[in-house]
Amino acid sequence: MTKLTSPSEIEKLMRRYDLRFHKRFGQNFLIDENILNRIADAAEISLSDSVLEIGSGIGTLTQALALRAKKVTTVEIDTRLIPVLNETLSEYNNIRLVNSDFLRCDLSDLGFSQDESIKVAANLPYYVTTPIIMTLLESDLSIKRMTFLVQKEVGERLAAKPGTKAYGSLTVAARYYADCEKCFDVPASAFMPKPRVDSSVIVLTRRPATYEPADKKVFFTIVKAAFLNRRKTLINSLMGNTAYDRETLIAAMTAVGIDPGVRGERLTGETFAELADQLTGKIK
Ligand code: SAM
Repeated sequence: MTKLTSPSEIEKLMRRYDLRFHKRFGQNFLIDENILNRIADAAEISLSDSVLEIGSGIGTLTQALALRAKKVTTVEIDTRLIPVLNETLSEYNNIRLVNSDFLRCDLSDLGFSQDESIKVAANLPYYVTTPIIMTLLESDLSIKRMTFLVQKEVGERLAAKPGTKAYGSLTVAARYYADCEKCFDVPASAFMPKPRVDSSVIVLTRRPATYEPADKKVFFTIVKAAFLNRRKTLINSLMGNTAYDRETLIAAMTAVGIDPGVRGERLTGETFAELADQLTGKIK
């Protein structure tokens, strides 16, 4: 059996299938066995679990997950990798391989039943990390625990506290749905080819929201707009990036007790929700 964490074996496999690593798909494959096992450990998978993986690559993490889970559904965008995966995953009878762009596929087509409890584990392609995480957080699937290998900077943003440089719209949006915990850092040398940046393993645990804005769309619009120009004050960011006028924004901020001169990074999710409630239905 091919040892998928061995760089020379990967090279042989790629040569045999006449393949090259595709940067545009974020193809950095894991070659560190220890890190691989630590990711599978962090995912807390047991033999009764259904697992969803996004980005199968050549099946390195898929194999490690399949050894621990009841079943693994793995989604890979790159059609050229499918024959490789058919080979590397051929000895496992609990893997379902889906050749699709995860961001375009209908999640209800992935074969999970409505109330099936799912754990997600993935070494995410860097260029679509945020949309993939937000799609999973917003989905109707019964996902509890999500373990991701992401760029270190994204991990810092997800785990950031208000008032810090890393705190932003991704922090507030993700934490509306889940708690975030950073597990450990992963050096660039754990991948082939080596990315330019270090990475981190993070775990998102989904839970019911701790506050409920009257209109989620208004809430997410305000959060996004507040961080589009980080150097501007909240009032100027919202005036520049939403349809609310100055008068309406000042009245809403005053009602919530927010200083209009503050920057968005000072506000917690709860305060953004209160502000959004004041603004709901107020576009002139
Ligand atoms: N899981 C493998 C590993 O750990 O070695 C590969 C991880 S690699 C960082 C990311 C993988 O995601 C690549 O195989 C890439 O082709 C795939 N990918 C990129 N965009 C995708 C998308 N939108 N949907 C599904 N897979 C995607």
